[in-house]
Amino acid sequence: MQTADVVLIGGGIVGSSIAYHLVASGCKDVLVIERETAQGKGSTGKSMGGVRAQFSTPVNIQMSLYSIPFYANFEELLGYPCDYRPQGYLFCATSEKHIAYLRANYQKQVAMGLKDVRLVDGSEIRGLYPQLRGDDIIGGSFCSTDGFVDPYSAMIGFMTWAGDRGATLWKNASVTGITRDQGSFRVLTTRDTVSTRAVVNCAGAWSAAIAKMVGIDLPVEPLRRMLVPTEPFDQFPHTAPMIVDMSNGFHFRPEGRGFLLAWNDPAETPGYKADFEASFIEKILTRAADRVPVFKEVAVNPKRAWAGLYEMTPDHHPILGESPEVPGFFFANGFSGHGVMHAPATGKILSELILTGKTGLIDASLLNFARFAEGRTIHETAVL
Ligand SMILES: Cc1cc2nc3c(=O)[nH]c(=O)nc-3n(C[C@H](O)[C@H](O)[C@H](O)COP(=O)(O)OP(=O)(O)OC[C@H]3O[C@@H](n4cnc5c(N)ncnc54)[C@H](O)[C@@H]3O)c2cc1C
Repeated sequence: MQTADVVLIGGGIVGSSIAYHLVASGCKDVLVIERETAQGKGSTGKSMGGVRAQFSTPVNIQMSLYSIPFYANFEELLGYPCDYRPQGYLFCATSEKHIAYLRANYQKQVAMGLKDVRLVDGSEIRGLYPQLRGDDIIGGSFCSTDGFVDPYSAMIGFMTWAGDRGATLWKNASVTGITRDQGSFRVLTTRDTVSTRAVVNCAGAWSAAIAKMVGIDLPVEPLRRMLVPTEPFDQFPHTAPMIVDMSNGFHFRPEGRGFLLAWNDPAETPGYKADFEASFIEKILTRAADRVPVFKEVAVNPKRAWAGLYEMTPDHHPILGESPEVPGFFFANGFSGHGVMHAPATGKILSELILTGKTGLIDASLLNFARFAEGRTIHETAVL
């Protein structure tokens, strides 16, 4: 049997960031257990890599205010790249309701210290991107420090840094059960059993099964999301931000020599469906060409498109912190589409909660598991 001070179940970007933050705080006896033969085969390797502080709830804004500057300094801090590209997020509103929503969010974001966000009017958007069909765009908001990262590189950077300083990563080791004995845990895996004082559930879309091992019903459900990369395309500027069409949720950003197209199909239902569905191509290209008429000419190779899983909670906010029922068992789950952009903050919050029982980054009670039982769920409408 092995021992470790802290065991992290799942070696995606969240487990890797927590490992980094624990080691950086002096807790080096950390074991990350990943069932796949390589990291990134869960949602992290499927992500669009968008990072933004343009949220509507204070706690999401706070998490981004830590995470985005962290990504901006990633290479300096860790010595590995994460390919942060501050090309911004541009939300394009086509109704007064959306304008009012963006204005209210803007006020919150500025009040909380976000400096680079501004409201823009329809004519400015049409001037910047004449390729957009702008007749119905009446305004929007733009934040220049929002942008994109390479999630795979960030995950590898976090884990390599932690591994070089004491943390251990087991690959090809599945957690199959967890038992408890007088304040300590035994984590059973296909490789060996580990005794530890603290277990962190970082199993992404599979986290409910891990929670079940200690008798907890975790409200995290998998939900398929599909992305379509285009072939090389130069009729839209590659310096563009993530552009979000608020009329239907279609969004896109430059990627390589082409663009990455995204749209969250409202007809999608929860479940472990991770196959890309060919019929999605027509659905997304219709929306793409509607907002960006030159996309009528874009070429797409369906074999390069992919699907992955969001890990959804009932209020689209993560569940972070120690279980009230099982002391020593921690959650870092349910990012509902924001796990890459909030991984740095999650690492900071979880490492502080594990090592000191409190965190200075956010009011931890806002995201704790007890909020569901206590009727304190959060309402966030800006989910992409
Ligand atoms: C199409 C798509 C686009 C997205 N776009 C964005 C975006 O633009 N910005 C953003 O911030 N987020 C985005 N996300 C969400 C983001 O990718 C996730 O929130 C994030 O990757 C979650 O990281 P994680 O480490 O918790 O989970 P994962 O990366 O899924 O890692 C969990 C790991 O746990 C392992 N595991 C599971 N069960 C076990 C077990 N029993 N034993 C051992 N290991 C186990 C899995 O193999 C996996 O590697 C997107 C997601 C998808 C699918």
